[in-house]
Amino acid sequence: MTPLRDTVGPVREFGLTGGIGSGKSTVSSMLESRGALLIDADAIVRQLQQPGEPVFDAMVGWWGDRIVAPDGTLNRAAVAEIVFSDDDELARLNGLVHPAVAVETQRRIDEAPDDAIVVHDIPLLVLPGGELLTSRDHEQWLGIIVVDTPIETAVDRVVAARGMDRADVQARIDAQATRDERRAVADFVLDNSGSLAELEQAVADCWDWMTSIESGIESGREGDVS
Ligand code: ADP
Repeated sequence: MTPLRDTVGPVREFGLTGGIGSGKSTVSSMLESRGALLIDADAIVRQLQQPGEPVFDAMVGWWGDRIVAPDGTLNRAAVAEIVFSDDDELARLNGLVHPAVAVETQRRIDEAPDDAIVVHDIPLLVLPGGELLTSRDHEQWLGIIVVDTPIETAVDRVVAARGMDRADVQARIDAQATRDERRAVADFVLDNSGSLAELEQAVADCWDWMTSIESGIESGREGDVS
């Protein structure tokens, strides 16, 4: 289902996703320790939405002061409320944010070393219903990694780690793509139903896969040359 690239560019890119509490942030850190260059889509959005940044200005230009908190920063809850039940407003938000995120993402890739293995950390990559968040960037990726965890385990971990209300966590999970929908787009599934040591081993296997895709393509290229 994923469009796998058949030519190799200077930088090898992968997508990483998983539901709330799946362990995606934990996997990001593990991949980073192995040498991956993480590009965190949410962090880029937050950076671009700082007061004075063009995306912040564009959003306030559209929705006005009702989305500005008393301290002058973006009132995220107010934005969430506006777009939650209105598809046109959501499309407007995406139209203001996504192109700027794409530019910043590309800037980071352009600055990456030639042999970088880039991992795009995108929590909401798979939309409810199973479609991928629309972006031409996916065509550049060598594959999609999905962190998969039984819902109950994920809820338990989030409640324990962040002190969140169980029903709130469950409601967020219910509003997101299902495990099946995420697994359907995965090129590599990281099972995080077990211990952290087991996850580390799964990440090691995943890293082997990520690096062997490169050698597979390179040997193909050598074949073409000879
Ligand atoms: P996500 O980014 O997907 O929401 P996190 O990586 O933040 O999830 O993980 C949620 C919590 O569960 C964190 O406190 C993390 O340390 C813990 N955790 C993740 N994987 C495991 C595991 N295999 N065993 C025990 N705790 C885990």
